[in-house]
Amino acid sequence: MKVIIVGGGIVGCASAYYLADRGVNVTLLERTSLGAGATDRAAGGIRAQFSTEVSIRLSQAAISVWETFEDEFGVDIEYKRPGYLYVARKESTAELFEETVPFQNGLGVDSRILDPEAATEYVPGLRTEQYVATAYCPTDGFADPHLGLQGFSIAANEAGAEIETGVEVTDVRVRDGRVIGVDTTEGRYDADVVVNAAGSWSPQIAKMAGIDLPVTPKRRQALIVDPESPVPDSNPLVTDLDAGCYFRPERNGQALVGGHLGRDPPQNPDEYEKSHNLDWAADIVEQVATVADYFGPDSRLVRGWAGLYAMTPDHHPIIEESMPGFLTATGFSGHGFMQSPATGQVVAELALDGEATTVDVSPLTRDRFDRGEELHETYFSA
Ligand SMILES: Cc1cc2nc3c(=O)[nH]c(=O)nc-3n(C[C@H](O)[C@H](O)[C@H](O)COP(=O)(O)OP(=O)(O)OC[C@H]3O[C@@H](n4cnc5c(N)ncnc54)[C@H](O)[C@@H]3O)c2cc1C
Repeated sequence: MKVIIVGGGIVGCASAYYLADRGVNVTLLERTSLGAGATDRAAGGIRAQFSTEVSIRLSQAAISVWETFEDEFGVDIEYKRPGYLYVARKESTAELFEETVPFQNGLGVDSRILDPEAATEYVPGLRTEQYVATAYCPTDGFADPHLGLQGFSIAANEAGAEIETGVEVTDVRVRDGRVIGVDTTEGRYDADVVVNAAGSWSPQIAKMAGIDLPVTPKRRQALIVDPESPVPDSNPLVTDLDAGCYFRPERNGQALVGGHLGRDPPQNPDEYEKSHNLDWAADIVEQVATVADYFGPDSRLVRGWAGLYAMTPDHHPIIEESMPGFLTATGFSGHGFMQSPATGQVVAELALDGEATTVDVSPLTRDRFDRGEELHETYFSA
């Protein structure tokens, strides 16, 4: 079997590895350089605290790979696990925790509800007066997305995958209702299966095969901040669902700060503004200063950037065989890095076995939107 993967982000590279590892002849085509899309712009968060079974299962399967990644792939991804703490200002958000934590526990996620005072054991700077409840999972954490990408791409290469950068897919070739290859800036490639792993560009690739993909690029920004008081390494990633902001420890007491405020227009992935916006930076630091008292007036902005979430209407990915010979794995909004090891395995299973066994991804086909069976994620912020 010959497989062409379109897109050299973390999803494409993980898929290339798991396919090559199962003996498939794989070529990955990336139009610029590996990671140049969303992957190198991600915050690196890895969590199992979700509110739908399919997201939890994808994350659990992925976490079991991240846990042993260094041994298996020989790359230290700087995986830290101080947990994730969700904090609620509103009673309605606290009620979501009450509903969701028992559901998560039933699926094996070690989350728990803590009153804000108890949460200061993990987040000493938490401004408890703002909050009515928190939800904490000690096994969540974060890692370096670029190192993860490196691990997968090197392993894919060693397993025999060809990785070609600077090659842009310009058309998807279809014959008798089946995808048979792609045209590129470097010529024609034949394939039994083409995988659309082009993130925010995936609707363009899908359109080449005559498919409408409900994926919209949305701009998201992040900052490195040198806070007035250092954020301890043991501090979890803190997400304020009601304020729409988050922060986590970076290195040497610094913090990675992100979140979304205000308007959210669709973006052209070839033309969006890749620098952060200074007004947004001032506003988001002001917001996190209301979450924890690390961010006093002497906090300093170190650097910032913007990237794209490939967003579906229900913030869950589309993973499916979209037509014979054409697999789709895209639309991960803010979860594509963390779930990539599971996604890569599922893509290999769909290509080789015709169905996914690592995780049942049948709820993730795009026809859920036509059937009115959209999923609903409540642990979604920013
Ligand atoms: C600010 C920010 C914070 C985030 N934080 C997190 C987080 O904490 N945890 C998490 O899990 N996720 C996070 N994400 C989301 C994560 O970055 C994405 O879900 C993930 O990187 C998607 O990977 P991908 O491989 O699907 O897409 P991408 O990395 O975008 O890769 C797609 C690739 O396709 C290539 N391509 C496009 N068109 C063509 C073509 N015609 N031919 C060939 N190649 C093509 C592009 O050049 C690109 O390299 C964050 C994203 C942003 C922007």
